Amino acid sequence: MLTDHIGIPQLRDLASRSEQVNNSIRVTDMPRLAELLHPDIEPADKALEVKIKFLGGPQGALQDFPVIQGHLKGSLDIHCQRCLGPLAWPADIKFRLTVIGSIGDLDKVAEPFDAIVAGEHGMQLKDVLEDELLGSLPLAPMHADITNCASAIGVEFIENDIESSVPDSDTNRPFEGLAGLLKPDHSSGNND
Ligand SMILES: [Zn+2]
Repeated sequence: MLTDHIGIPQLRDLASRSEQVNNSIRVTDMPRLAELLHPDIEPADKALEVKIKFLGGPQGALQDFPVIQGHLKGSLDIHCQRCLGPLAWPADIKFRLTVIGSIGDLDKVAEPFDAIVAGEHGMQLKDVLEDELLGSLPLAPMHADITNCASAIGVEFIENDIESSVPDSDTNRPFEGLAGLLKPDHSSGNND
């Protein structure tokens, strides 16, 4: 369904049957989006929840174009623009798009900015979802707290280290001494 080429007649038909899509879409199925994701996070099993309803368009209104109403939910591992580490961005997007046959129909819809063109060969819902996700991404996403940047890089460093070293080594504990350093029991010279 998500990869079918759907035109306006099919959308009207889906609406008349109150069809709905309750599915999921993998980020790897959306190449333009996948390109923007952090390469250190394995995207193979990442998917977003998809819900789509098909509506017949406002009754009795000037326009009679089908409408796609959708909700996308999941998490995208994008780049933090401060530390360039992976940042899990919560995607929770609701959209409502009027589907028109050609650009010439634009002046017939009430909200032209929420219109998409199906064209003579129809469109793929997958592309619509990908466009919505791309449009929702922030321009300069960052970890909310700068300490999260440090841990994002730190976690990444440790993971790489484990992957590239022999797993049965018992010397690979770079923070072993850290607990002792952080103990708040050194009371010397703290009275001013
Ligand atoms: Zn960061």
